[in-house]
Amino acid sequence: MKKSELKRAAEEVVERLAGNYPDARCHLDFRNEFELLISTVLAAQCTDVRVNMVMVPLYDSKYKRPEDILSDGVDRFRDEIRSVNFFNNKSKAVISICDTLVKEHGGKVPGTMEELTKLAGVGRKSASVVLGNCFGREDVIIVDTHLKRVASRIGLIKESDPDKIEIELKKIIPADKQFRFSMRIGEHGRQVCKARKPDCGKCFLSDICKSAFRT
Ligand code: SF4
Repeated sequence: MKKSELKRAAEEVVERLAGNYPDARCHLDFRNEFELLISTVLAAQCTDVRVNMVMVPLYDSKYKRPEDILSDGVDRFRDEIRSVNFFNNKSKAVISICDTLVKEHGGKVPGTMEELTKLAGVGRKSASVVLGNCFGREDVIIVDTHLKRVASRIGLIKESDPDKIEIELKKIIPADKQFRFSMRIGEHGRQVCKARKPDCGKCFLSDICKSAFRT
């Protein structure tokens, strides 16, 4: 597809997603950037449902600030999150994050991609989740498993590396629509264009999707 055609197709996808999922939102429960940052790190290769189940009661009862996790210490924190996949490595990452937040950011979550991605276990995807949901940044693409799968099936991307996908999509999705597009295409992946069996018969993109009725 020529670049101009790809841009037009992307515009159409953005518009239809907005019409169908106007209120698409993050599936992790959070009340502030600290909770979302920690839950996003814990949600890697784990379900949002599991992370919510484990973390919401902990945020309510004792983990209000990074200092609270640090004073519990790595062993107790690890015990608290034992039912989350890779709890061992994740508990070390969370302790490191909390330590950096306290020592370098006055206990607050920083609001830039550069600062966030310096934190242990925080890649561009997690940073984008926090920036979009908590800092009002519209110019972030969240390359998660749903976005990768659906954007690839539709034909919007060719790359498979997340950093390259981000660059590809940033060229064809307007900056002020990138965050909402990410949330909405993720929702489409959960509801219709599912990993195992996309429901092309019910899909509002089937007339423009290059994989329609082929997966
Ligand atoms: S037409 Fe099928 S493959 Fe394409 S986006 Fe819709 S559900 Fe996914």
